[in-house]
Formats: sequence, C-alpha cells, structure tokens
Amino acid sequence: MAEKSLPLLEDTCLPFQIEGQDIKGRIVRLGPAVHEILTKHNYPDHVSKLMGETLAFTALIGSLMKYDGILTTQMKGDGSFRVLVSDFHKNSESLKGDIRGYASFDEDIVAGDSLEEIFGEKGYLAITIDQGKFMERYQGIVKLEGEKLTDAAEEYFRSSEQLPTKVMLSCEKDDDGKWQAGAVMIQHYARNTEDEILRDESETKDHWNTSSILLGSLKASELLDNSLSLQNLLMRLYHESGIRIFDHTNIAAGCRCNEDKIRTALTSLDLQELKDVADDGTITVTCDFCTTDHKFELSKLLH
Ligand SMILES: [Zn+2]
Repeated sequence: MAEKSLPLLEDTCLPFQIEGQDIKGRIVRLGPAVHEILTKHNYPDHVSKLMGETLAFTALIGSLMKYDGILTTQMKGDGSFRVLVSDFHKNSESLKGDIRGYASFDEDIVAGDSLEEIFGEKGYLAITIDQGKFMERYQGIVKLEGEKLTDAAEEYFRSSEQLPTKVMLSCEKDDDGKWQAGAVMIQHYARNTEDEILRDESETKDHWNTSSILLGSLKASELLDNSLSLQNLLMRLYHESGIRIFDHTNIAAGCRCNEDKIRTALTSLDLQELKDVADDGTITVTCDFCTTDHKFELSKLLH
C-alpha cells in the first residue's frame, strides 16, 4: 500500500512512478546513516564524497531486491584508488536495509580527478546481487570510463538492463558538518532503447525527454535538503503529470561482522601464524567496514 501521509526526510528510499507514463523511479536520501559511516572512516573529504555517493547508489538499487539479499557495489582498479566497496543488506519483510562500506587508496590521491583517472585503466564497477536461495546470483560489470559515478551508474543500466535510465547522485557536508547523500533515478521501463525512444515521434519520446529534463533541473541542495520531504520534492518535480508513490524502505548504517566467524577463522590458523599477529597475547582484528576492533586472547584461541 502506498504511504502518502508520513513525510519521509532521510535514511529512506522511496519508489515512485510518473502518472500516465512508462517511467518509474526511486529516490534515496541518507542522513545519520551516511554520517555515521563516513565519520567512522574519516577519509579525506573528496573520498568521503565518493563513498557517500556510492552508499546512496547502493541503497537505491539494493532496495529494489524483491527478497532478502545483499547487493554489493564494488569499484576496483589499478590507479591511486584501489578499491571502494559498499553493500546493502535488505530485509524484505520489514522493508529495512543496512548499508556499510569502506575504501582503500593511496595517501597521495588527488581531489577533483575523474573516476577513470583515480581507478586507472583497469578500473571497473561490479554490482553483485545475491538473494540466496530465492534467485540466481547476478553480477554486472562495466568499465569505469566516465568522469563521475553517475556516468558509471548510467552505463551499468544501459549495458545490464538496456533500459534508458537517468541517475543523479550527490554527497555533501552541511553547515553543521553533517554528511548527507542522495540518489535518484528514473527509468523508462517499456522495452525500448534510448535511441528508439528518441527516434520515436510519439508521446513516449516527449515523456522521456520532459522527465529527464525535469530530473536534470533538480539541484543537489534540494536532493539533500532534509527539511524537504521526498514526497514534496517529487511533487515539485513532476507535479504536471503527477506521481504515484509506493512503500518506502528504511535505511540504517549496519555491519554484519561476526565475532564467532572471526574466531573460527583464527582457530584454523597454525600457532606460529597466530603468534605472529598477536600483540601482548591479544589478537586484534579490525573490521574494514565498521572499523570495530574485535579482540581475542591468544591463550583462549588455543583451547
Ligand atoms: Zn563490521
């Protein structure tokens, strides 16, 4: 059932459809969830911005999963940026999702360089969807060739779904130093390629053109403005045709690192390896995603 009364401000994803058109969309705004993740990692601001956009994009497409599952967005390359991973774990029954992410890069990474430059010639974006026993595991890969993550995201949809798709992503720190991120996409779901639609003389072409232009007119400051509800933002954009909105997904920062699993992995190592990584009789394993230090006493692991 559509929920129209409750104003949705942040840490949520809202699917919508433009009335009378073959165009559907989704919008995400992250507040406390992205702030928690980015402040824990404390990356340089330009890295945090890319991370925040990636988290918003991951939540945007991860919330699309029909069943419980994990959607992972991974960018890898041979440039000054080695890897950036984020994943979204969806609980379909409660319509909730947890996001997390981490990045690995050279200290001398330069702000303002294109995605292609920072990830190098071998840079790629891989999106993996794992819904366990419910659906076959899916992976789509595109080369990182564009300037921004938006370019890679649109290329991903062009190559994987062959549906005309427009994406907007943003991540900024507000005046109070709070990180916010947003993502919005529209997609023409009739089975036409963008070329076909643009050649088409019918209403379809006008609809897609108009809706794309309207999305292009959305300012990052509006996408991230947490005093403007997502419903009102969409109504402002598409008030002429009207929109229909669907059930939203709540999003939180959350990690799945598990002390028991780490302990099991450690006990499979031999004694010398354990001694090598122990410090004063204690082994500390830091989670890449949530930066939690998991501590184990060497003497207890040996029993
Ligand atoms: Zn963790």
